[in-house]
Amino acid sequence: MTARRKMIEAAAFQGEVIAALRAAGNIRSAERLQRCMDVRLARQRNSGWPWTCRSSGCAWCRVSLIRRWWMGLTRWVVDDGAPVSLVVLPLHHPPNGFRGATVRLRRALRDVRDRTTRRSLRWRVVAITGMVGADGTAMVLVRHPHIPRAEVAEILGRRWPEAIIGEVAAVLPNSEFTVEDAVEFARLRRGIEPLRVIVLPQRSSGSPPGQEMGGSSLTGSEPMPVLF
Ligand SMILES: [Zn+2]
Repeated sequence: MTARRKMIEAAAFQGEVIAALRAAGNIRSAERLQRCMDVRLARQRNSGWPWTCRSSGCAWCRVSLIRRWWMGLTRWVVDDGAPVSLVVLPLHHPPNGFRGATVRLRRALRDVRDRTTRRSLRWRVVAITGMVGADGTAMVLVRHPHIPRAEVAEILGRRWPEAIIGEVAAVLPNSEFTVEDAVEFARLRRGIEPLRVIVLPQRSSGSPPGQEMGGSSLTGSEPMPVLF
């Protein structure tokens, strides 16, 4: 697809989202998306960095938001050579319920980790992060020092039998949202938060319980990456 064709399609999509926001009385959210679109359509070559609305409901901003956050989350979890697995999970959400589904997934992942920690202390250093894709799948990165991938697959597989677990691959969460989903995100005006999953380790990692080796920067005092 040519750049011009892409621009026309994105503008048509954004127009639908803006119309839906206006119809629902979300004028400020609509104007934010409108301004982002106007700036992009009027942008001349080499005219510098455009103003951006940074809404995950915006046809343009969501793509760069998702890419940058995914890279940031990956760097955060792939911290010091500890094993990390990519888990792809199904996420079913009702209309206007994307964010709620993300929140439930975050809680469920934390509950599975915490419950497993009660039986096996090694799990207290397990950190989980990820993002929910537009195609109804969540891409979750699990950092599991001193725990084999097969064990992670078994534990998560009990809760999510459809989960697929493997190596961290160079893939991005899907960003082709429906107009309905984009309207929900634009109303939230919270950047990437409605799509992001983070479960901090219960304690700092880097050494097995009872053994102090240090050297890890992934600690409870470093809650999450912050990107602008
Ligand atoms: Zn935007």
